[in-house]
Amino acid sequence: MQKRVNLYITFILLRILINVTCENSPSVIIVGAGPSGIAAATKLYENGITNFTILEAENRIGGRIYSTKFEDEIVELGAELCHGMKDNIVYKLANVYNILQPIEESKMNFCYSSQENVDETFFYELFDLFNDVYDYGFNNVNDTISVGEYLTNRCNEAITINYKNDKQKLKQATEFLDFYITFLTLYSSPFSLFDLSLPLYYQKCEGSYIIIWKHGGYKMILDILMKRYPDPKKQLPIEEKILLNKEVNKIAWKKTSNNSKNIFIETSDGFVFAADYLIFTPSLGVLKNTHRNLFVPHLPENKVNAINKLGFGAVSKIFIHFPERWWPTTDSVNFQFVWSQEDKELMMREFPFGPSKSERTWLLNVLSLESMHEKSNIVTAWCGGEFVPEIEKLTDHLVIDGLMYILNKFLGDKYNITRPYAILRNNWYENPHFRGTYSYESVESRKEGTSQESVLAEPLKTSDGQDVVLFAGEATNPIHYSTVHGAIETGFREAQRIIDTRQ
Ligand SMILES: Cc1cc2nc3c(=O)[nH]c(=O)nc-3n(C[C@H](O)[C@H](O)[C@H](O)COP(=O)(O)OP(=O)(O)OC[C@H]3O[C@@H](n4cnc5c(N)ncnc54)[C@H](O)[C@@H]3O)c2cc1C
Repeated sequence: MQKRVNLYITFILLRILINVTCENSPSVIIVGAGPSGIAAATKLYENGITNFTILEAENRIGGRIYSTKFEDEIVELGAELCHGMKDNIVYKLANVYNILQPIEESKMNFCYSSQENVDETFFYELFDLFNDVYDYGFNNVNDTISVGEYLTNRCNEAITINYKNDKQKLKQATEFLDFYITFLTLYSSPFSLFDLSLPLYYQKCEGSYIIIWKHGGYKMILDILMKRYPDPKKQLPIEEKILLNKEVNKIAWKKTSNNSKNIFIETSDGFVFAADYLIFTPSLGVLKNTHRNLFVPHLPENKVNAINKLGFGAVSKIFIHFPERWWPTTDSVNFQFVWSQEDKELMMREFPFGPSKSERTWLLNVLSLESMHEKSNIVTAWCGGEFVPEIEKLTDHLVIDGLMYILNKFLGDKYNITRPYAILRNNWYENPHFRGTYSYESVESRKEGTSQESVLAEPLKTSDGQDVVLFAGEATNPIHYSTVHGAIETGFREAQRIIDTRQ
């Protein structure tokens, strides 16, 4: 093995002579210009380590923060909300400029596909009941069990106890449970709730959990980190150290340190960089897909185990712009779609297009439609569950046809629904630089008995104990994984590791 590594490094060294003549050999390479990579860069810079380069595979910075314009409004293709206030680095950094705004969750409007025989208040009753069951389990159950298994058992028990004497309620409660179990995938992004662990190491930051950006969108946090906001004249020279469209496809590192560069990084366009330290920030999804070919030598077994066992799923946000608002315009809309058993069966015949499996079609993964705000003509369709990867592959035309089928089924009697004329979405799962949306604790990772995020965060060391290949990114945060604040904390953490070794 060692022979192979040496051979590879010799090969790389030869190519560096060719390629790096016009490159400054940086002492730190940061892979990825998402929030963790930018946070690491700013911390290094502010502590006097200025000899670094950020290699970013995409043609933009921000990673899973992706605020962009759609029909004259800012939409968030990625992160949208700051979750919590206390001990939340995003809140701490941004709140001083008065650009954050906690908001109330808009009232859910549960819609039933079979528009007759529906008592909407019953769905609220069920929502509260199932939330209570979930909260109880979350706070009291320590056994390794999936959220899906726990909820199916306990909610079905509760349904039987409460509604056994009312045939119609019994049926609708079972249908609502099917909705609820897919609906919850939106929060943690697993393709199935049967993969998500009920007990978690995750710690919520106290305070409002729904905080939006008053202007500029989530990308404001990158400007704040780089000191471009509030005063652009004071910005740190971080962006000039970012190389876009530089996809790293090989990371070779030497275990035996001999005071020269320890790490060689190759990009898919043939450049090779050498560095003393590397901070790796791409997503767990990228690691799952590439670690075997990316690292020379291979990553240690415990890290590979953590990569395999931790969960990384995807949700899909589809922004659609309607020429005119056909929904009640006084309020924001928040329609949630609950299917009756008969309509699920009918759907297979009425709309047989797109992916389906065991009598379930992708339309069941379109869970809700929410307006951006009360004055907007843009609404977001939220999709979660097993079909998300396949929904990403559908044409815009088919997605709109599917949404129109759903809207007419649920709301056609009440409103004169017009066809949207523009659609915007980002395929997070398809994109090889993300491979999904955010990480979660799976049942399998929980069975390991210790935080697998912490294992993922462990640096690779040289034989004399120097930390040289460092891991940041949301999935390496043991208590705030899956969030932007969690990602930023890990960038700071790994930059600090380098700063500490230099003192
Ligand atoms: C749809 C969606 C909604 C979300 N909603 C919220 C929310 O409301 N609130 C919240 O707190 N969080 C939310 N998140 C999660 C949050 O966006 C992420 O946790 C956070 O952005 C992760 O930051 P990161 O730096 O760890 O990784 P990333 O943002 O993924 O950054 C890693 C960077 O590495 C780059 N990269 C990948 N592979 C390579 C390679 N081979 N070579 C070079 N560069 C590479 C990527 O292009 C990327 O820019 C959401 C995410 C998504 C996708």
